Amino acid sequence: MPNFHDLAVSRLADLRLSVFVPAQAVSRLLGDAAGRRKAASLLRAAGVTKVYLDVFRGYFPDEGTLQTARDMLRDLGYAVAGGITTVAGKGCGKPSSRGAHWLCWSAPESQEVIARAATLAGRLFDQVIVDDFLCTMCRCERCEGERGDREWGRFYREQMVDLARRLIIEPAKKANPRATVIIKYPQWYDRFHRFGYDVREQPRQFDLTWAGTETRDPEVEYVQPYQAYFNHRWLRALAGERMGGAWFDRINTSPEVFVQQAYQSVLAGAKELILFDYRHEFFAPGAPHMAALLEHFERLCDLARAVSRRSPIGVHAYKPPDSDGDDEAYVFDYLGMFGVPLVPCSEFPAATCAAFLPRHAAHDPQLRAHLRDLLKQGAAVLATGGLLERLADAQLLAAFGYGKHPTCECDRWAFRFRVGAAPHSGPGFVHFTRALNPSKAEVLASAVTADEVFPVLTACDEGGASRLAVSAHTMRYAPDSDRVTVGEPVPLIHLADGVVQALRARVLKPLGIELDMPSLIGFYPFEGGPLVFQSFGRRAAEVTLALAQRRWGKVSALTNIFTRRRLRPDASGAYKFTLAPQEVAPLSITSARR
Ligand SMILES: [Zn+2]
Repeated sequence: MPNFHDLAVSRLADLRLSVFVPAQAVSRLLGDAAGRRKAASLLRAAGVTKVYLDVFRGYFPDEGTLQTARDMLRDLGYAVAGGITTVAGKGCGKPSSRGAHWLCWSAPESQEVIARAATLAGRLFDQVIVDDFLCTMCRCERCEGERGDREWGRFYREQMVDLARRLIIEPAKKANPRATVIIKYPQWYDRFHRFGYDVREQPRQFDLTWAGTETRDPEVEYVQPYQAYFNHRWLRALAGERMGGAWFDRINTSPEVFVQQAYQSVLAGAKELILFDYRHEFFAPGAPHMAALLEHFERLCDLARAVSRRSPIGVHAYKPPDSDGDDEAYVFDYLGMFGVPLVPCSEFPAATCAAFLPRHAAHDPQLRAHLRDLLKQGAAVLATGGLLERLADAQLLAAFGYGKHPTCECDRWAFRFRVGAAPHSGPGFVHFTRALNPSKAEVLASAVTADEVFPVLTACDEGGASRLAVSAHTMRYAPDSDRVTVGEPVPLIHLADGVVQALRARVLKPLGIELDMPSLIGFYPFEGGPLVFQSFGRRAAEVTLALAQRRWGKVSALTNIFTRRRLRPDASGAYKFTLAPQEVAPLSITSARR
């Protein structure tokens, strides 16, 4: 592996690679001079310029070891920060009665150990990141007593906000008034509120917010890669200027998927990538994951620079804090995989030209009033069947072309569809738990089974604005489930390209974008460019893109920032190109001179 150190240093303004060393690895790998020298030299060659040393992970490394490693790395020019991983260990804290790793936070022995870890971290470091175990699902007698009559999720959130302040932030800052404390969220955004993550309070409470982008291999863990982007951008909507970088790992990833996570992180605006975790063999010369990442390093830096401080544009996708998706859990990920560019928001998108409102939006008590205003403005709105069921408002349902009973419950699997009169087949079966039941909306697409044809995508157009509805069942968690990630195959991903195209065409219209391409390509347009495409597919794909002059001005060319290849519009004004499997193509926009 060539030495990436100088390159990494020269690109620090664009992107930084960092590594996290878990507490056990601090002792095992950095406990002696030879180990420390080896780690320092491997990290240097891999372009890593910052190291996070974990002071606690159910286990305390020797303070002297932490100090020696910190000083040696600093002397060699590394930025060094601390980490705390709030898990139970042997003789360290009381484990949560349910779930692996997590703590019972009501137990005095847990509280004592976390406060001790935070004090140690503050004493040693000016910056401390808290790994994503700041949650619990303990149902012990003590927790039950402390909960009182609160719902479990609410109890956990209030408890974690209070204890994060008393046991982590305050002790760390008392030990070191200069210390900044970072909260790192996992990637499972649709389940945060159930297990103690309070996305309203914590981003204010901590100095910085970090987002997990560890989606891993979708064929192994069934999480779609777009989830990384959505999670990071949604947390950014909550944290604002206090949003920090991204964190991912190589668990259950091929080198290809590892690199995919890096691109999703950078597209989401991350300027620092923490790689989990440090092991000598992971950074050894030629180790496949790092070799793949470094092959893309300059491109990642170029992309980070191109999107830096640019606003993403797209369909505003509303997930209020603490909202559940019911049987549409994580539905945002699938829209993203269908090439619908989403702008995640945590507040109702009151001034947008295109919005996506799934079941989650019903969590907002003001939803109906907001939606009425938005429709008045003539925005295109895509609602899911799950949301229509919750609207219970005749006037709003009528705006979508529906009556009192917007859906019919069903349990059907289909891979054949009709879009208009044309037949379309998907790559696999999609599971529908509701058929749409429009009263006057136009049926854009229907699912076709052996004995039935039922609407799955409808539109009601008024003054050029589309009010769309889609049946988008993903998965549902059992009421008392302790699961956090998607964790099972979601058949919605197989929705036929023809249906996806019909949906995308309508929601992108107000953005002045016409886009013809198959599914499994992420699309990330930024104001003023670049327009970025990322293929998640296994096949090359033909992409046709047209930009309306009223929205984009007169565009004369699109240039791929990576390859410098310049695309000219064809006679109809459209840009045509082929996207290779797994390719990332950021296209900068050249406007014609007036
Ligand atoms: Zn407990």
